[in-house]
Amino acid sequence: MNPWFAKAIILLSSIVMVIIRAPHGQRSRGIKVVKSRRGPLEIVLLALAWLAFFLPLVWVATAELAFADYPLLPMPFVAGILCLALGLWLFDRSHADLGANWSITLEVREGHQLVSQGIYRHVRHPMYLALLLYSAGQALVLPNWVAGPSYLVAFGLLFVLRVGPEERLMLEEFGKDYEAYMARTKRLVPGLW
Ligand code: SAH
Repeated sequence: MNPWFAKAIILLSSIVMVIIRAPHGQRSRGIKVVKSRRGPLEIVLLALAWLAFFLPLVWVATAELAFADYPLLPMPFVAGILCLALGLWLFDRSHADLGANWSITLEVREGHQLVSQGIYRHVRHPMYLALLLYSAGQALVLPNWVAGPSYLVAFGLLFVLRVGPEERLMLEEFGKDYEAYMARTKRLVPGLW
């Protein structure tokens, strides 16, 4: 298959992701942070994730990563588009449900409320699930060994290292309510994990 199909999908999905996030990013900048757990590790992980998010766009726009290209095949391409579409839908839903309680990092905002409704009724980390689906979609759609899996590796690492501290922060903040929420939900996959 012509790699320009992959380039078009990567560009489109990246634009949609930025459009979904933009208003939430803007709103969150206006709400005071009352507690932050953004340590050096979190800063490094966030920087890595940003870099890995832009690497696919470098592949789209330049030939710098062409040494790691491989042929694009229809099956992974279609499977990847499905993952990207599902990931973006879930990303939008979780942002809508989390509302003003969202932060790019580990923070508690002024007036922070525990969200356990909407998509958060089914799993505790729908936004991370969305980003894992999205990054898996990129790895399938993008036929390059460097730019394809870059976001999956970086975000996977961020998820693994952040999810425990994030749940401890929520427990500290919401106590028994978060304990009860944990008892009735799984982290990523309803009924499984
Ligand atoms: N882990 C969640 C949220 C990601 S945004 C998800 O994947 O959907 C990260 C911020 O959301 C954290 O700093 C934390 O303050 C906040 N947060 C996480 N779970 C929350 C919940 N159930 N209700 C309110 N805020 C939450």
